[in-house]
Amino acid sequence: MFPKFKTKLPGPKAKKIIQRDKRCMSPSYTRDYPFVMDHGKGCVVTDPDGNVFLDFAAGIAVCATGHSHPKVVKAIKDQASRFLHMSGTDFYYDMQVKVAEQLCEFLPVKGKKRVFFTNSGAEAIEAAMKLARYHTMRHQFIAFFNAFHGRTLGALSLTGSKVIQKKGFYPLVPGVVHVPYAYCYRCPYHLEYDSCCLHCLKYIEEMLFLKTVDPDDVAAIFVEPIQGEGGYVVPPIEFLLGLRRLCDRYGILLVFDEVQCGMGRTGKMFAMEHFHLKPDIVCLAKGIASGMPLGAIIASSEVMNWKYGSHASTFGGNPVSCAAASATIDLLKKSLMKNAEKIGAHIMKRLKPFVEKYECVGEVRGLGLMIGVEIIKNKKTKQMAPELRNKIIKHCFESGLLILGCGPNTLRICPPLVVTRKEADTAIDIIEKAIKKVSPR
Ligand code: PLP
Repeated sequence: MFPKFKTKLPGPKAKKIIQRDKRCMSPSYTRDYPFVMDHGKGCVVTDPDGNVFLDFAAGIAVCATGHSHPKVVKAIKDQASRFLHMSGTDFYYDMQVKVAEQLCEFLPVKGKKRVFFTNSGAEAIEAAMKLARYHTMRHQFIAFFNAFHGRTLGALSLTGSKVIQKKGFYPLVPGVVHVPYAYCYRCPYHLEYDSCCLHCLKYIEEMLFLKTVDPDDVAAIFVEPIQGEGGYVVPPIEFLLGLRRLCDRYGILLVFDEVQCGMGRTGKMFAMEHFHLKPDIVCLAKGIASGMPLGAIIASSEVMNWKYGSHASTFGGNPVSCAAASATIDLLKKSLMKNAEKIGAHIMKRLKPFVEKYECVGEVRGLGLMIGVEIIKNKKTKQMAPELRNKIIKHCFESGLLILGCGPNTLRICPPLVVTRKEADTAIDIIEKAIKKVSPR
């Protein structure tokens, strides 16, 4: 089935679309290679010239159930034929309540839970920022270097990933301070885990809280349990446990951004379950509705205590998106989380030896189907090799595999959760060939 090429890349039909795109679309988009989507099924996508690719990017970790899963498509069609929109802000409908109930059933947040729906990840972050300020009546936020929380002004204030994402957009929302994340492969303090005694945690209490930020002013700490755009970085469990303790000590809300690592991708419904942790607010989006626009924040009813009219959204919780979400959650529960765990373990088993085998592979890390491969110049200096990483991605495309990067120098492996072992093996063979091509030993 794949890869199957009928033309050179991009083919004549794809080329035409790209030319039209170049004439009218914003130049801010980050297309790294010229793939044009025509249609897809599961993990396989076809361009307008009939070239067939394996998709390990999943629309930036979104298409959890694969492209156009028949059950999701049916749910969308059924809902669309009944009504497309009513606005959950002003009226009631079953589909919105149903998804809220499904999410509450799974979410390990303390106490009785409540859901607020949005259209995107950034909007979920905005809602969480507002709720945290509203609930605590405090103004300050703490976020992490390398974090990505979105591009609207509030979310962008928390983002600490790349300067280009912020340059030209100031002033942002005031009251945000960034601190180092537990990125142990590149410890900002040049320490080793675990002899470091989690210095990154201590820094918050022993430096930040003593010198510049009064903890009594801090509304919330925003953290990705696994950093996504920052490079698929998995922190040690003690880091997240320590954040929970810190929050409890000072009455700060702990907000988990599970926009990328949630919804079954790591083999559990939420990444936080790997760490046995309960945050105060959780932000969701991306995989929640298999590609339909939907986001959500969930908190206990004690925390989500804002008053009638204090926050709302016209489109948030759109019934068609909710229908897709409900079908997605059913599929995740039934088999896809298990599949993510199983195939993720298989991919890890095949990729881990690359660290020994190839000088340019610094670290392979991840959980389930959220796997990062850090590309470096050499093992001795661990110097990041973004050009090499980009070349690998380009070679993969030319061999029929779509993957994306994350962080400055990491390959991001985030296929749809329906991926089969055979598809995984094909993808890894292509990645290995690309690595060999750009960096022969
Ligand atoms: N939070 C995380 C962890 C993300 O990875 C992203 C997007 O990549 C966002 C928030 C923003 O989501 P959206 O692009 O839907 O606004």
